[in-house]
Amino acid sequence: MALTEFELIARYFAAQQLAFDHPCIVLGQGDDGAVLRVPDNRQLVLSVDTLNESVHFPAGADAFLLGQRCLLVNLSDLAAMGAEPIGFTLALSLPEADTDWLAGFSRGLAAVASRFNCPLIGGDTTRGPLSVTIQAHGLVTSGCAVLRSGARAGDEIYVTGTLGDAAAALWQLQGNSRLQVEHLTDSDSLFLKQAFYQPDVRVEFGKQLAEVVSAGLDISDGLASDLRHILKASSAACQKELGAELSADAIPLSDTFRRLVPVGDQLRLALTGGDDYELCLCVAAQDKNRLQSLASELGVRLTRVGHITESPGLGLRLSDSQLLELTESGYQHFA
Ligand code: ADP
Ligand code: MG
Repeated sequence: MALTEFELIARYFAAQQLAFDHPCIVLGQGDDGAVLRVPDNRQLVLSVDTLNESVHFPAGADAFLLGQRCLLVNLSDLAAMGAEPIGFTLALSLPEADTDWLAGFSRGLAAVASRFNCPLIGGDTTRGPLSVTIQAHGLVTSGCAVLRSGARAGDEIYVTGTLGDAAAALWQLQGNSRLQVEHLTDSDSLFLKQAFYQPDVRVEFGKQLAEVVSAGLDISDGLASDLRHILKASSAACQKELGAELSADAIPLSDTFRRLVPVGDQLRLALTGGDDYELCLCVAAQDKNRLQSLASELGVRLTRVGHITESPGLGLRLSDSQLLELTESGYQHFA
């Protein structure tokens, strides 16, 4: 590398835009480890995610957009735990010290870091195929993290935002011929690009969910797959096998998605496409109005999509009231 590892870190990652002060960071970058202050009555929440080139993002992705996405998807995990971000670490593997790439990537990280007051507090830099691992650190009030295990029969199931947009964006990035590009406008292109690279992660909303929801997670693999994690964890916690029923008509879809994805593919893509980074929340009937007013205060679109059932299995109720079984990859008639 033309730049030494230390020059590279000093120039792109230790700059004030990324390594800014935070009341919970006693010591950030520069030593063998960072030192964090956890205030009384608060607990530390950690979440780590790796994004590899050609696996989690397309080869040659714009560095500025990629920097944003890598941090946003980690903050989405904190949002799903109900945590307030306080700092993140970055383990970066790079094939070469490309200064244009580093400048764009670090600017992308800084844009998100400053928006969420979440400084870069340390990391590791190595040479190798492009891979970005971020660990995000956040705080919750002690005992108040939003878990996957708290859902109970009768709870309503809500999702934020719209589903399937990032999956449609991936169709566009990959040149999938199913996307009806003859209907694609400039604003659709921008919308899809943002859905993939700049997901609208629900950090502010997440921070206020602790006393309202019974369970929650962020949707990274698609609602059909992720809702199963809630069912599994919650069934284990209450020692009773829970299920869920989703209503096909209720799944929130964006206008762009409806116009560009063939009608016959819409439901499957929205439920199994992944990369949504929206929240799936379970809430007891008596708390649903509080959840809804919280969402409207923060301008978050919130849609009731189904409910938790006493009978096991994940069902999808169609508009003709037929009930299908939802599997990881799609749906089929109940055996
Ligand atoms: P060590 O050899 O003790 O692991 P390093 O030489 O890897 O330390 O890193 C020196 C300092 O630079 C550490 O404080 C580390 O946290 C920080 N650092 C290294 N890479 C990054 C990075 N990509 N982003 C932010 N900080 C980094
Ligand atoms: Mg090191």
